[in-house]
Amino acid sequence: MNDFATRLVNWQRLHGRNTLPWQGADAYRVWLSEIMLQQTQVASVIPYYQHFVTSFPDVAMLAAASEEQVLAHWSGLGYYARGRNLHRAAQQIMLLHHGQFPAHFDDILALPGIGRSTAAAICALAFRQRHAILDGNVKRVLARYCAIDGYPGDKKIEAKLWQQAEALLPRSDVACYTQGLMDLGATVCTRGKAQCSACPVRSGCAAYHAGRVAELPVPRPRKPVPERQATFLMVLHNNEILLGKNLSTGVWGGMWCLPQFDDEAAATAWCAQAGMEITFPAKPERECTTLQPFTHTFTHFRLHITPLLAQAIRKPRQMQEPGSAWLQVEDALQAAIPVPVRKLLQKIQAQRKLMPA
Ligand code: SF4
Repeated sequence: MNDFATRLVNWQRLHGRNTLPWQGADAYRVWLSEIMLQQTQVASVIPYYQHFVTSFPDVAMLAAASEEQVLAHWSGLGYYARGRNLHRAAQQIMLLHHGQFPAHFDDILALPGIGRSTAAAICALAFRQRHAILDGNVKRVLARYCAIDGYPGDKKIEAKLWQQAEALLPRSDVACYTQGLMDLGATVCTRGKAQCSACPVRSGCAAYHAGRVAELPVPRPRKPVPERQATFLMVLHNNEILLGKNLSTGVWGGMWCLPQFDDEAAATAWCAQAGMEITFPAKPERECTTLQPFTHTFTHFRLHITPLLAQAIRKPRQMQEPGSAWLQVEDALQAAIPVPVRKLLQKIQAQRKLMPA
């Protein structure tokens, strides 16, 4: 075993994370944890993971669930395409692998939502097979350890990092080594201030010796983040709120959302067209019940949301919009809803006392 791997494996056994709920579990649970951990930290993932495996303890139960049930369990975790792909992958495993999670790298890689590093992590952690991983944390560790210049998101730089990941991979103890790399990136060689004094591989770290830890990896080239605006219409009728189910694509695909418009005039026109008579709370109630505009940040853009609260005098007999439904606010909070909608519904619950009857 090379020096990097030996030091990492010894450190992982003594100082790594060895009590995570998916460690030592079957491939289904390792897969689930790997998907949940993409873009999300361990502490946030654990309660979602536990709730998820309680409801869907195996591939068959997950495949048999509706997409809506799966997304309701994902609600609040973000990046909802992960939940939709997980569901599709479970159905594919039932169809192609008789409900048995596949044990071959190529079969795992062929499942929806699984890239090269995730397939490798599942192979290494669940099946103890020799495959190199390269997730965001590992890119950071290797960019520093090997002093690789350039933004790791660039294809050429990424290829160099894969080369290093393969070259450092030991012949034995692959599961412990893989966990060690993840642990080192998450707890010692962190994005902010790396704790080099506690690092087991410091003696061989090129960035450490060159005094370049703070400048590696090279950050993503700055581009202005696009800004978008939307008015979220919250029409209440007694304790029911009007929601619409998004199509199964896009950032909130398959989730229940508030109707969205460019501005208040467009929202009002839409209500009129739907045959829905609405009123806005009159002053001073309107001021009491006005929900403040806020911003929700996605990876690729920022959405400035203006909430617009209204009362429906009566509901139209039938909504023209496919996928629209009136839900009790409490029921809506249990459904598959994105975080900004959840925040608004929680405010409505808190302010309901102020609403006119
Ligand atoms: S010595 Fe510092 S920069 Fe190098 S791998 Fe360890 S924590 Fe990261």
